[in-house]
Amino acid sequence: MVLDGNAIGGLLLEVFAADMTSALATCAACGAVRPVAETMVYLRAPGTVVRCRTCTNVLMVISSARGLHCVDLNGLAALQASGTSD
Ligand SMILES: [Zn+2]
Repeated sequence: MVLDGNAIGGLLLEVFAADMTSALATCAACGAVRPVAETMVYLRAPGTVVRCRTCTNVLMVISSARGLHCVDLNGLAALQASGTSD
């Protein structure tokens, strides 16, 4: 079953300490820029896989063990929180 980024809003809040569902994710493979909420999310052990809706490239892998979250962002060219002046 494929979910969208809203499904992991709570998880992302834990990982980034911010609401990332409205952040803009830039795919490193195809360059598509979309809100995290619009990505495709696969919840399966041992981690959560976030894929680009345009090219299905893996954007993020979030695995959790012993209460710690390990985040692989190799598939992202950029992740920009919206609405903030960085
Ligand atoms: Zn892509």
